[in-house]
Amino acid sequence: MKNKLFYRCKKCMTVSTRPRISFKKGVCSACLNFKERKKIDWSLRGKELRKLCNKFRKNNGEYDVVVPAGGGKDSSYVAWMLKNKYNMNPLCVCCEPPLITKLGIQNLNNFKSSGFDLIYLSETEYFKKMNKITFIKSGLPQHNWLASIVIAPLKIAHKFNIKFVMWGEEGESMYGGKNIYKNKLKVDTKLFNLKLNNNVINKYIMKNTSKKNYFWSTLNKKEIKKYSNIYKCYWSYFEKWDETKHIKVAKKYCGLRFDKKKQGNAINNHSHTDQKMFALHMYLAYLKFGFGRATTDTSIDIRHKKLSRLKAIKIVKKYDSIFPETFTKDYCNYFNMTKKRFFKILYKFINKDIFQIKNKKIILLDTI
Ligand SMILES: [Zn+2]
Repeated sequence: MKNKLFYRCKKCMTVSTRPRISFKKGVCSACLNFKERKKIDWSLRGKELRKLCNKFRKNNGEYDVVVPAGGGKDSSYVAWMLKNKYNMNPLCVCCEPPLITKLGIQNLNNFKSSGFDLIYLSETEYFKKMNKITFIKSGLPQHNWLASIVIAPLKIAHKFNIKFVMWGEEGESMYGGKNIYKNKLKVDTKLFNLKLNNNVINKYIMKNTSKKNYFWSTLNKKEIKKYSNIYKCYWSYFEKWDETKHIKVAKKYCGLRFDKKKQGNAINNHSHTDQKMFALHMYLAYLKFGFGRATTDTSIDIRHKKLSRLKAIKIVKKYDSIFPETFTKDYCNYFNMTKKRFFKILYKFINKDIFQIKNKKIILLDTI
C-alpha cells in the first residue's frame, strides 16, 4: 500500500516529504523542470550572457564580476569560463565551510594558483556558535554558512563597486524546491529572505550578526535595498548545467583533485568533498524528511540517464541511512559538546510520521 505521506517520484528517487516540493501525476517538480529545460534554446541564452558581460566589463584592470567560489568543480568552471571565454575579470569570494577538509584547502589553493584572485573569509568562533544554535534548535548544522555564501559575495561586490554577481546553479527549481527563480535572468532580493521557521532564532540572528560578524550577517531591509542595484545571476540560466563538463574543465585548468575514497554516506567522490559538515546536514535531512545524500545524487544521475531507477533503489537502500561515523569526533569538537549530547540532539529530529523505531533501530516507512 502506498504511504500517503511518504512516497517517491515515479521517475527519480525524490521524496514527497522534501520541503517545498510539488508533484504532478506522481512526477516531482525537479523531473518536470528538467524536462522543460531541454526545450531551452541555449545559444540564445549564451547571447544574453555575452550582452550582460559587455555591459559590465570594465576593461581597466578592475574587477567586474564577483564569483562565489570554493575550489570545487562548479564554481571553478563558472569562474574559468567568465575569465577565459567571456573576457571578464572575476573577483572570487570563498566563505570557509564548516569543517573544511585537507582536500578542500588543497583544491582552493590550486584554484588560486591557476590564476584567480580570491577573498577568503575564515570561520570565526562566533560563527560556529551560530551554527550550534541552529543545529540544536532546528537541526540545521550549517545554516549560517549557507546564508553567508549568498550574502558575503554581495557585500564584497558592494565594497569593490562591482555590479555583477554570478552564482552557479539555481538549485531550488532544479532539485525540487520553489519555482520562483526558474527561468529568471535576474534574481531579485527575495533570494535573501533566509529566515527560519523559528522566530526566536530569527530574532537572535538579526540582533547579533550585523554587529559582530559583518560578512556572515543576515540582511536587513535597508541593506536589501542597498544591494538591489547589483545584477544577480545564476550560471545555470545561461548554459546547460553539466557536471561532467565542469569536472573536466576544473581538472584541466584549475587544479581540481579528488580523493580515491568517498565520505561515509556519499555515493560519489566528487560532490561536497571540501567539507565534513555537509554529510551531517544530509543525515539530518534523512531523519527529518526521509531523504539523504544518496536520494539526492541518484535522482540527478537518473535525470541525466547515467543511472537506472532500479540501480538507484539499491544504492539508496544501502547509503541513505548511513551516519558519517568517521566525523563524529569532528562534529562534537565543532559544537563543543559530548558525544552523548550530540546524539541526543540528533535523534530529537527523527520524524515519527515516517520512521518506526524497533529495537533501537530506526526504520523508514518506505515502499521501495
Ligand atoms: Zn523526480
